[in-house]
Parts: sequence; structure tokens; C-alpha cells
Amino acid sequence: MSNLDILNAHNFKFNKAYGQNFIFDTNFLKSIIDKSDIDGKDVLEIGPGAGTLTSIIADTANKVVSYEIDTNLKPILEENLKNYNNVEIKFGDIMKFSIEDIESNFDGNYVMVANLPYYITTPIIFKFLENATRLTSMIIMVQLEVAERLVAKAGTKDYGAITPAIDYRADAKIIKKVNRTMFTPVPNVDSAIVKIDFNNKKFDIKNTKVLDDTIKSVFAMRRKTIENNLKTSFRLSSEIVNEIIAKANIKPSSRGETLNTQQLVELANIINDYL
Ligand code: SAH
Repeated sequence: MSNLDILNAHNFKFNKAYGQNFIFDTNFLKSIIDKSDIDGKDVLEIGPGAGTLTSIIADTANKVVSYEIDTNLKPILEENLKNYNNVEIKFGDIMKFSIEDIESNFDGNYVMVANLPYYITTPIIFKFLENATRLTSMIIMVQLEVAERLVAKAGTKDYGAITPAIDYRADAKIIKKVNRTMFTPVPNVDSAIVKIDFNNKKFDIKNTKVLDDTIKSVFAMRRKTIENNLKTSFRLSSEIVNEIIAKANIKPSSRGETLNTQQLVELANIINDYL
């Protein structure tokens, strides 16, 4: 029986609210895993669905720990993964688990491999970017539109707060575009797989919290200038903000989406000296 047959046998109903679009094509999934560099590693998966991707990860990884919100999938996952002794499924909302809790599944470093639920793609990425301590790589399937944002260049329409938030910590690239017809049910959008490899040597950063706050601040109100956004977020006077901006060699009237990662790092390092 195919995994789709097993879902049908259990009378499983896809739940749109959970972003359930499954992939059953094992050759396609294998081709992704081949490019993902997960041999012998510990893997965190979010949203195993019917467990098709999970089993392919488990074939090469050391172990897989998967978090699934939908308990209706429990009997299906048990059946589909019964031959694997290196897979553990935890039921619950990934956003409700603390990073400490999630990381306690792994003795050392781990990687994330996930076909992410689209309704919470950005919160999941930020949760791990900002809090994970032993995550070395994320191989995630996301909506194509989001994928383009993750790897965008400064000043382009796709550039957003998440772009430099990734770029200062990691090297991100789209490894494959995925046509919507690969999914069951077929969604309204195409997808892409993005590989994000953490690399903490890219920039000289004084305080990552201040940098995260700076990035959020300059992108906070898209139509406001950097000067206005910084004043509001850091509760600094116009005078101080202008001094900071001048030291960073930025025009006070410029907008967040024009600053590249290097400029944001320099700006945050200067702000840090005033806090
Ligand atoms: N990996 C599977 C399914 C991807 S669909 C495949 O590729 O076929 C997204 C999956 O994420 C679904 O199984 C959905 O139930 C699960 N999910 C949605 N929100 C979640 C959350 N907050 N925490 C954990 N899993 C979630």
C-alpha cells in the first residue's frame, strides 16, 4: 500500500488550517535528501504528515525527531514508520515547545529538514534563527515567494527583515523549485527548497540581540525613514539617532530595504555603543 492509500484507509481528512499538503513521490524526495548533506546526522523534522519524507531522512540520518501537531496522523505515522527504530514522533505545536526542550533531543549538533506548514513558516524560521544554539543547517520547503525573500538582494522588492536576519548568520540558497502539482492536495502556489547553512564567521557583530532589534526596527514601518524607525524602537532622541546615522554613513532619509547586511551590522554595532 502507498502512503496515500494508508491515509485513505484511515479515512484521513487533510486539514487546511494546518497547512497540510503532502508529497508522496519518494524518488523526488530522495533527490532532495541527496543534496541535503544529512548522512549520519541528527535531524529535527517539523510536520512529518504521513511520514514519507521522514522515512527517507531516516534512511541516511543517524536519528530523526519529528514534531507533528495533528494527532489524527498518529496511527498513520505508526504504520508507515514501524520499520524504523531511529525515528521518534512528538505530538504538539512546534511553536509551543521551548528551544531547550527541542534541543534536549540531541546530544550534539543537529540539522532541520522540513516541508514547513506555510501558515507559520516565518515564525518557525525566526524561532530557530534567534534561539537555536546547536542547529547547523536548515533544509526547508517553503512557498516560492517566501524562498525568494529568504535569498533576496538588498533594495529589491523581495528584500525584507528576514533576509538580513538570515544573511548575517548563514549562507542561504534555493536548491530546487518545486511545482505545486507535486503536492496532495495541490496548493495555489509553487514551492522551493532553501538550504540555510549557519556560518558564524561572516560578520563582526558586537551584540546579536541589538542587531536583531535594529533589523526589526528599520523594517518596522516600510514607509517611515530609518531615522524615525530607530527613534521609536530604541527610544533615543533625534540628536542621538542622527549622530548614530552619521557615524554609520547612512542618509537619514533612507529606508530599511536599501541597507545591506554589512550596513545593518555596522549600524547595530554603533547603536550598541549608545545603549
Ligand atoms: N512532511 C510532510 C507534510 C508536510 S505538510 C510531507 O512533506 O508530505 C505540513 C505538516 O506540518 C502537516 O503534517 C501538519 O499537520 C504539520 N503542522 C502544521 N502546523 C504544525 C505545528 N504548529 N507544529 C507541528 N506540526 C505542524
